[in-house]
Amino acid sequence: LALRPKTLDEYIGQERLKQKLRVYLEAAKARKEPLEHLLLFGPPGLGKTTLAHVIAHELGVNLRVTSGPAIEKPGDLAAILANSLEEGDILFIDEIHRLSRQAEEHLYPAMEDFVMDIVIGQGPAARTIRLELPRFTLIGATTRTGLLAAPLRDRFPIQERLDYYATPELTEIATRAARKLALPVEAPAVEELASRARGTPRIAIRLLQ
Ligand code: ADP
Repeated sequence: LALRPKTLDEYIGQERLKQKLRVYLEAAKARKEPLEHLLLFGPPGLGKTTLAHVIAHELGVNLRVTSGPAIEKPGDLAAILANSLEEGDILFIDEIHRLSRQAEEHLYPAMEDFVMDIVIGQGPAARTIRLELPRFTLIGATTRTGLLAAPLRDRFPIQERLDYYATPELTEIATRAARKLALPVEAPAVEELASRARGTPRIAIRLLQ
C-alpha cells in the first residue's frame, strides 16, 4: 500500500489519460459537483486501483473499495451505498463485469438518480422502500469493456483505457518502489527487470521484491 503514488504527478505514465483526468477533476472541483462516473479498463496490474486512490486524493474525498464478486445481493450494494459513503465520495468496484445481474440492475438508479429501491420482508407483507443515497462517484474497473453489459457501460459518462507501460516508465516505477522499500538495487538491475515486466507495474514490483 505504501508503494502507491498519492497524486497524479507521482503516478507515472498514462500521460494521455492523466491529461484528460486533470480536466475532469478541475471541472468537477469548479462546479463543486462529484466527478462523473468513470469506467477504467485495461489488463490487470496496470494501475486502475491505484488511479482510483489518486483521484480520491486529488479530490479530497473518501474512497471505498469493493469488487463485483463481493457484492452478491442488492442488499450488499445498499449497505455500501447508504452506509459507507458521503456526498462526493468514490466507490471503486473492481471486476465490475462480475456483478450479479440483480445487483447490476439496482446500480442503475443509484448511478443515475442516487436512489435505490429495496424490498423489505416477504410475501404479502413485502414492501418497497426508496433509499436516498449521497451523490457519489462510481469508478468501475474491468479488463475489457466488451465484458460489460451495454446498459451498464452506457451509464459511465467517462470511459478510459489504460495502456501498457514503456520500459523507461517501468524503470521509474521500480526505482521509486525500491527506494520506498529501502532495497539496495543498482540502476542496471532495475532497468533489466523493467524490460522483463511485460509493460505491467505489478510485475515490475513483483520482480523487484
Ligand atoms: P490494477 O488495479 O489495474 O490491477 P493496481 O492499481 O493494483 O493495478 O497496481 C498494481 C501495482 O502497481 C500497485 O502496487 C501500484 O502501486 C503499482 N502501480 C501501478 N500503476 C502505477 C503507476 N502509474 N505509478 C506507480 N505505481 C504504479
